Amino acid sequence: MSKVVIFLGPPGAGKGTQAKRLALEAVLVQISTGEMLRDHIARGTALGQQVKPVLDSGGLVSDAIVIAMIREKLSNMDDVRVIFDGFPRTVAQAEALDMLLEELSSPISSVPLLEVPEDELVSRLLERGRLEGRSDDNADTIRNRFKQYLEKTQPLIDYYATRGHVHPIDGMGTPEEVYTRLKAVAA
Ligand code: AMP
Repeated sequence: MSKVVIFLGPPGAGKGTQAKRLALEAVLVQISTGEMLRDHIARGTALGQQVKPVLDSGGLVSDAIVIAMIREKLSNMDDVRVIFDGFPRTVAQAEALDMLLEELSSPISSVPLLEVPEDELVSRLLERGRLEGRSDDNADTIRNRFKQYLEKTQPLIDYYATRGHVHPIDGMGTPEEVYTRLKAVAA
């Protein structure tokens, strides 16, 4: 049976870590547009070369590019059981996703929203930059990623709230504690 979880939350909130675990336990495919784009960059594809400066600056890749990636990914699935992590990030992406899901007769199951105060987000991102060497985890880029989040992605909270799906989750505490809260609304 289809299941569609859309994981909202600012950069550094822990979406990736939590989504991976939920995907394993609930048998979902984790779809992270950020990971897909970084993979293109690592492989040096034409798309990777095109988007690298955008990721390095903390801006958003064009809606057309990410929507095409998602459309292709979903078209290869027999049974749509997914957790989106980092997509959609704009209202245009959310509208495109609604249309795709309608075509696939796979309604949205839940929209968890991971909430973490901004000073904690900054220190988590800087720490990840030190540990994993992600090139966009530096102070300048982080500032722009928050700006993009506030301007373009935060409106999605209202977008989904009017459709009655959003579940705020406290993202503070150990990964274990946060996962227990996530499971309660999305497993
Ligand atoms: P993330 O791994 O989700 O933090 O994404 C890393 C970067 O990839 C973002 O700062 C954007 O530049 C780009 N990106 C990832 N997902 C999207 C998306 N849905 N729309 C536009 N840009 C995205």
